[in-house]
Amino acid sequence: MTGLTEQTQSWQQLDAAHHLHPFTDNQALGQKGSRVVTHAEGVYVYDSEGHKTLDGMAGLWCVNMGYGQQAVIDAITEQLKVLPYYNLFFQSTHPTAAELSALLAQVLPAHMNRVFYTGSGSECNDTVIRMVRHYWASQGKPDKTVMISRHNAYHGSTMAGASLGGMKPMHQQGGLPIPDICHIDQPYHFEEGGNQDPETFGLERARQLEQKILELGEDRVAAFIAEPIQGAGGVIIAPDSYWKEIKRICDQYHILFISDEVICGFGRTGHWFGCQYYGIEPDLISMAKGITSGYLPLGAVAVSDRVAQGLLSQGGEFNHGFTYSGHPAACAAAIANIKLMQEQDIVTRVRDEIGPYLQQQWATLADHPIVGETRGIGMVAALELVENKVPRTRFHKDKEAGMVCREHCIANGLIMRAVGDTMIIAPPLIITRTEVDQLVATARKSLDDTWRSLQR
Ligand code: PMP
Repeated sequence: MTGLTEQTQSWQQLDAAHHLHPFTDNQALGQKGSRVVTHAEGVYVYDSEGHKTLDGMAGLWCVNMGYGQQAVIDAITEQLKVLPYYNLFFQSTHPTAAELSALLAQVLPAHMNRVFYTGSGSECNDTVIRMVRHYWASQGKPDKTVMISRHNAYHGSTMAGASLGGMKPMHQQGGLPIPDICHIDQPYHFEEGGNQDPETFGLERARQLEQKILELGEDRVAAFIAEPIQGAGGVIIAPDSYWKEIKRICDQYHILFISDEVICGFGRTGHWFGCQYYGIEPDLISMAKGITSGYLPLGAVAVSDRVAQGLLSQGGEFNHGFTYSGHPAACAAAIANIKLMQEQDIVTRVRDEIGPYLQQQWATLADHPIVGETRGIGMVAALELVENKVPRTRFHKDKEAGMVCREHCIANGLIMRAVGDTMIIAPPLIITRTEVDQLVATARKSLDDTWRSLQR
């Protein structure tokens, strides 16, 4: 911790002594010292040492409209003055929840007109499990309880969210998954496709869903849940053949399809929701993050007319809800954020202008000696680090190539995330072309530095 200002050292010491960080080896971090992020503007974050860093991850894939949006800040402030808190239980609502629900119905796919509020993406997916089971029970099918998900999916950190997710290290801590959740393989062609062409591989992976349903029996399976693009798993984009086949299977066997849009929602793919990019109609959508651009925590589960009708027609209480379901200030943030997105027509900009530009520039990194593949859609992209391109081999695990690359990126002024040896970006949607150029140039320099470090 030498060479740092006294103020930084003081914050690091307080943090090391009293704070347990999420997804962190806290002992190792305590010795190294946290990076103290103090403020942010546009697409840049600043730390307590005065470093300015381009936030290539929009925080945690959430600050879609960038930092410092005055309209969102004002809406939150005004709401806090008028009604800082009230709940949606016991036959109450408040104006911001009612207005946001209508606004969401406007931007959601046409067949979805109702939402249930939560405080986060994880809470959305907990809600999804209970709602889906409640729905099937209401249809006289109480045995339809099994949720099928995918290995290496990420659906949150609560017991149910982490169970739905397919991350082994998460399952190992806490005896997960909880009962009646199972997983099929992911459509990750680069890593698991072998010599198969992508389309055959995509079909084969989709048909694992059919096999699983047949194995369990249609009368036991409630739903299939998936991210349109697997985010935390490494920006995994299924081959074109995959989604049509998944939808065929869900329809044929009468199981619900849940699109986890916590990352893909709110413009990331150049559509309001990632399922629209693929032309698939989900029964439920989980959303969070970009709904407020991360300014306040909020999640929502969108429900199709058919499922809503099923739930409503039977009457009876849904015994589920959170103190902060639809927190007024969070709803106000979401309304202001969505209106800003509409005013700036940001989703069209991502689809037609800045998304294609980012993808075109990002693809130029494919010629780098340690890049085995680049891929992306809209404002999310990945590249695979390899030691040799032909035949393709990864770096030895002990070299931790992804972590080495991430550290070089930070030193060079760019936040890029490492998932194993996959490097990923999801910058704010408001990023300019000049900033995209800077992002890609810094990524290239960091790849050069990584290559040099790994040769030592
Ligand atoms: N689903 C997906 C697809 C996510 O990416 C995440 C968070 N990265 C979650 C759910 C969980 O959201 P939260 O962290 O808000 O609970």
